[in-house]
Amino acid sequence: MVFAVATNNQKKLKEIQRILDSFGITAKTLRELGVDVEIEENGTTFEENAVIKAKTIAQITNLPAISDDSGLEVDALNGAPGVYTARFAGENATDDENIDKLLASLEGLEKQDRTARFVSAVCLYMPDGRHTVCRGTCEGWIGFERIGDGGFGYDPVFMVEETSYSQMTAQAKDAISHRGSALRQLKEQIEQFI
Ligand code: IMP
Repeated sequence: MVFAVATNNQKKLKEIQRILDSFGITAKTLRELGVDVEIEENGTTFEENAVIKAKTIAQITNLPAISDDSGLEVDALNGAPGVYTARFAGENATDDENIDKLLASLEGLEKQDRTARFVSAVCLYMPDGRHTVCRGTCEGWIGFERIGDGGFGYDPVFMVEETSYSQMTAQAKDAISHRGSALRQLKEQIEQFI
């Protein structure tokens, strides 16, 4: 059974494929499937956006599609940036601009006031319309500065205890990450759908 991974974010894609691979699931990228589409993520929750993405790709490819919509909830910012995580510093903001804005927003706050979680909603959407969504979270805090050089996005400032996502090996991140948790839950359900 071939699955399509519904994302154009190459770094996220690599992580999703790596985790699915560890389950023995081979998933094709949109590039491999010859699909070039910009999907408007206009949902108000991670779950809604995950469904929008997987549904669009399942309909275009006629394959079961797996999507991930993810983001950061920072307690001191009342849960922001949430579904706006990718666009926190503006519509086409770079990772660096987003991190700069986040660090500036938390300026002066001590560690105990910098608590946050990463959230991932993953959706499996079948061409016949059946679908399921699973949510994974990882609790942590926003560091005072960038630490480490691995990973992508907000990895250098997302701290789990005293280690940033950026400092973790791929396997260590997958074992505790929001995405790893969501995809492990999804895996439990995949057999019922196939
Ligand atoms: P999405 O494509 O709308 O799901 O955007 C997710 C946003 O959260 C982007 O800014 C990503 O860089 C960021 N993000 C999601 N997962 C991770 C992660 O595992 N590490 C760092 N940043 C992440």
